[in-house]
Amino acid sequence: MQVFKYVHKLQQIITEQRQSGKTIGFVPTMGALHAGHLALIRAALQQCDYVVCSIFVNPTQFNDATDLEKYPRTVAADFQKLYAVECHAIFLPEVDEIYPEPAPILPPLEFGQLTQVLEGAHRAGHFAGVVQVVHRLLDIVRPDYLYMGQKDYQQQAIIGAMLTQLSSTIQLITAPTVREKDGLAMSSRNTRLTAQQRQLAPLLHQVLSGVKTDITQQSIEHVERAAQQQLTDAGFVVDYLSVVDGTTLQAIEVFEDAKSVVVVVAASLGDIRLIDNLIIS
Ligand code: AMP
Repeated sequence: MQVFKYVHKLQQIITEQRQSGKTIGFVPTMGALHAGHLALIRAALQQCDYVVCSIFVNPTQFNDATDLEKYPRTVAADFQKLYAVECHAIFLPEVDEIYPEPAPILPPLEFGQLTQVLEGAHRAGHFAGVVQVVHRLLDIVRPDYLYMGQKDYQQQAIIGAMLTQLSSTIQLITAPTVREKDGLAMSSRNTRLTAQQRQLAPLLHQVLSGVKTDITQQSIEHVERAAQQQLTDAGFVVDYLSVVDGTTLQAIEVFEDAKSVVVVVAASLGDIRLIDNLIIS
């Protein structure tokens, strides 16, 4: 496993790989790796000849300074996990390697409502930071395949839209959410839950599963309200729980089986904000 801190060294190796006909897979992460991240790496290893995993806690996507400061950093354990799955390369840059002065200019991109709703409405500037860092990382790695998790549903939708706008040849592969046995979606933030919060947290997935069942029998508005209430009663502070179109992420009022429909949720336990989603159809 090769470890890179600098863009030019990484690019040198990737160029060599590409020149010898190898395909490049890329898995961007913020570290504190868990089985969800490793599933993405494994998918990449199955499909590509050379797999790069980046670990970079991107400051520009945090709208809350405390959240950035408290974000778990477990580089030694991350290395062990990547070594165990036989990932080929780790890219571990410092901030000024990703954001050199003068800052690389982003091409004009237009996402319309996609970046405004849900997480966009609750985390000002978050997606501008995500688009900035993913664009920069893709410009460095220039992979054939990019792997992202369904766990961050809106994020992968926005990056998909970015690749389309750029007429990029990079293929986005979205992998299913990996969950704990009790249904809680794996997340680096889960490590910060207290024992009591950790016991409550699987309710998020249970409630989403309930929405998936109920939506065929009751109005969306009713189902959403009941689900929000269930979470609130249990002690969550709910930012949103919405049934949305899986492509536009706009709220839908009437359920139609034939359309892409997803239920998305963001809710906090204490100061830990959790997100999850479930594809309904
Ligand atoms: P993060 O380190 O949280 O920025 O996540 C890096 C990548 O891993 C993103 O594409 C996430 O969507 C994905 N990811 C995070 N948690 C999971 C999970 N439980 N299952 C599948 N993918 C995940």
